[in-house]
Amino acid sequence: MAKRDYYEILGVDKNASESEIKKAYRKMAIKYHPDKNPDDKEAEAKFKEAAEAYEVLSNADKKARYDQFGHQAFDGAGGFGGGGMNMDDIFSQFGDIFGGAFGGGGFSGFGGGFGGGQRRVKGSNLRIRVTLTLDEIANGIEKKIKVKRKIQAPGTTYKTCSTCNGSGQVTRVTNTILGRMQTSSACPTCGGAGQSIDKKPNDADVQGLKVQEETVSVKIPAGVVDGMQLKVTGKGNEAPGNGISGDLLVVIEEKEHETLKREGDNLHYDLYVSLPDAVLGTSKEIDTVTGKVRIKIEAGVQSGKILRLRGKGIPSINGYGTGDLLVHVNVWTPKTLSKQQKEFFESMRNDEHFDPKPESGDKSFFEKVKDMFS
Ligand SMILES: [Zn+2]
Repeated sequence: MAKRDYYEILGVDKNASESEIKKAYRKMAIKYHPDKNPDDKEAEAKFKEAAEAYEVLSNADKKARYDQFGHQAFDGAGGFGGGGMNMDDIFSQFGDIFGGAFGGGGFSGFGGGFGGGQRRVKGSNLRIRVTLTLDEIANGIEKKIKVKRKIQAPGTTYKTCSTCNGSGQVTRVTNTILGRMQTSSACPTCGGAGQSIDKKPNDADVQGLKVQEETVSVKIPAGVVDGMQLKVTGKGNEAPGNGISGDLLVVIEEKEHETLKREGDNLHYDLYVSLPDAVLGTSKEIDTVTGKVRIKIEAGVQSGKILRLRGKGIPSINGYGTGDLLVHVNVWTPKTLSKQQKEFFESMRNDEHFDPKPESGDKSFFEKVKDMFS
C-alpha cells in the first residue's frame, strides 16, 4: 500500500512550525483515539498513521531527511520501514502529547484503563412511558414510539476546546503549606470532551444540539410487568462532538383488562353461572389473551370452584414457561322470583337433593386459595 504524505496525514503544509505540527497531531490523535472509537479498525489505522507521521515530522533530523527523500528515507532503516507502529509504542512515545488528557501519560496500553482524564461525554437518557394491553403483553409486540430527542444539529462543527486544549482536563496548581499541589478536574468549558463548538446553526442550543421528533421501534418481549424499564441503547439524547448518545428507557405501563386480572404470570377470571346452569351443566365462552375459549361447566358445579386452564396465562419474561388462567366459578343466586318460582323452591326446602352434602372433593374457598399458592 502506498504511503500517504506525512504532511497530508496531519493536514498541515510543509512550512508548518513545530507547534503547528504538534497541535495537528494532537487533534488527530484525540479524534482517532481507540478509547473514542472502540472496535473501529479504520480509526485505529488512522491513529497509527498519524503517530507515524508525527514521529518523523516532530524530529528535526528525520523531518529533514523526509523532506529530501520522502518515504524512501526510512525504508529498511529501522523506524517504520516494517509494519508500522503498534499501539503500545504510540502510547509510550507520545503519551505526553495528550498532556495528561488520558490519565497523565500513564497508558496501560490499548484498551487498558485510561485512569481519569478525558471521558467520552454521554448524552442524557430519555424516559418514556408505553401503555400496553394485556393481550400485547401476553404476545409481545413491536411498538413504534415517537420520541423527542436531541440530535447534533446539521451544520454544527466542533473545534479543539481552547480552555483545555483538547485534553478535557484542567490542572490547577495551588500553594499549600505542604508545598505545591496539582489537581486535575474535568474542563468546565467542554465538560471533559476536549471539544467545543466552532460553528452552529441558529436553531441549535449551546451544545450545538436541537430537538427532533423521531420514531423509534421498540421490541417488547412477552411477559413484561408494569413498571419494568426496557433500555434502547443509543436512542436517548445525542452528545455534542465525539460523545456517545444516551439511552432511551421505555417504562412499561399495563392497561387494566376488562375481565382478566393479572397476578404474576397467572390470570384470573370471574365466571358467573345461573342457578339452572350450575344445576344442569353448560358450556361458556370466556376471554383469554389469545382469543376466546369455550369451557365446559359440569352439572352440579359448586360456587367457588376454580377451573385451571394451563398455559392460558402470560409467558414468563425469563422464559420459564407460561402461566395459567384460573376461572373462578360463581353461582348466581336470583334475588327476585315469580310466585311460581317461589312455590317451586318452597317445595324443595325439605328435598334431600337440596341438602348441602360437601364431599372431600368440594374444598372450601379458603382451602382452594391455599392450594393455589402452594
Ligand atoms: Zn475543554
